[in-house]
Amino acid sequence: MTTTYDPNNIFARILRGEIPNNTVLETDHALAFRDIHPQAPTHVLLIPKGPYVDFGHFVAEASAAEQAGFNAALDAVLKALELPAGFRVIANAGPDSNQEVPHFHLHILGGRNLGPLLP
Ligand code: IMP
Repeated sequence: MTTTYDPNNIFARILRGEIPNNTVLETDHALAFRDIHPQAPTHVLLIPKGPYVDFGHFVAEASAAEQAGFNAALDAVLKALELPAGFRVIANAGPDSNQEVPHFHLHILGGRNLGPLLP
């Protein structure tokens, strides 16, 4: 799996402010924003600010401070979204997952019963 980061991917452009986004929360280490094609009433993407292609790349290469900052942002965004009935967190990685945007992101979904993991 490639870990060559494309600095012109759409989330990199969002981080640089070149493309607008519907921000939920921003910290020094992460940005959370609404998915442009929501699959549930709440569908938020959480991305680190560092140049990581996917989940495996982030876990392997991000510094302890980046990973701690990302985890803290995840905790904060989950609290901000207020999903008392539950939620689902998904990370696609690589061709088998059909990951479209090559910048690591978590999908946070909720606001309805999400059904089985793989329908
Ligand atoms: P992936 O398939 O896991 O890579 O998911 C990429 C997600 O990014 C999809 O759910 C898209 O709807 C979402 N997306 C693509 N472009 C934008 C954008 O400009 N703003 C917000 N979400 C986007």
